[in-house]
Amino acid sequence: MTSATLAEIEAAIRNVPDFPKPGIQFKDITPVLADGRLFSGVIDHLLDGVKPGSVDKIVGIDARGFIFGAAAAVRLGVGFVPVRKKGKLPWATHEQSYDLEYGSNTVAIHVDAVQAGERVLLLDDLLATGGTAAAAMQLLERLGAKVVGVNFVIELKFLEGRARLGAHPVRSLIAY
Ligand code: AMP
Repeated sequence: MTSATLAEIEAAIRNVPDFPKPGIQFKDITPVLADGRLFSGVIDHLLDGVKPGSVDKIVGIDARGFIFGAAAAVRLGVGFVPVRKKGKLPWATHEQSYDLEYGSNTVAIHVDAVQAGERVLLLDDLLATGGTAAAAMQLLERLGAKVVGVNFVIELKFLEGRARLGAHPVRSLIAY
């Protein structure tokens, strides 16, 4: 079976206007997940250029980052680590807050999820303002992880989220 092209994947992403609130164009990736060939193709593209043995763990961000991150970890044969919303992880955690347009959010990671020096690839479905991924990176740096890349399925370029992710290699498959 040939891998799905980025054009095929892009065609399956559903734009939902005014969700979850007026003015937001929500990028719904569930039609991609529902198609085995497209889902597998996204994982191929997310891992394109990632050499076997070059990554120790994949870190996925709550909640859609878990879907792509877990599949990518199995494909690569490495472990998976969740960065979750505050209050969900049962063991000792580090927490990192970040500002939203209104209010703030906090993400958390288990203190023993990654060992110092481990090479991690951070994955999420979508890069918007970059606040979530930047907070996840701060957590990983606190654990002494080496972030070798930050990969997204979708990037909303006009929000310039990349600027918040420092010098790390940032890659997205589909940009709007
Ligand atoms: P940000 O912290 O602004 O980069 O937002 C990224 C997080 O919010 C990701 O985990 C996305 O799943 C979610 N998100 C933000 N904007 C959208 C959007 N337009 N469509 C779908 N998900 C979004």
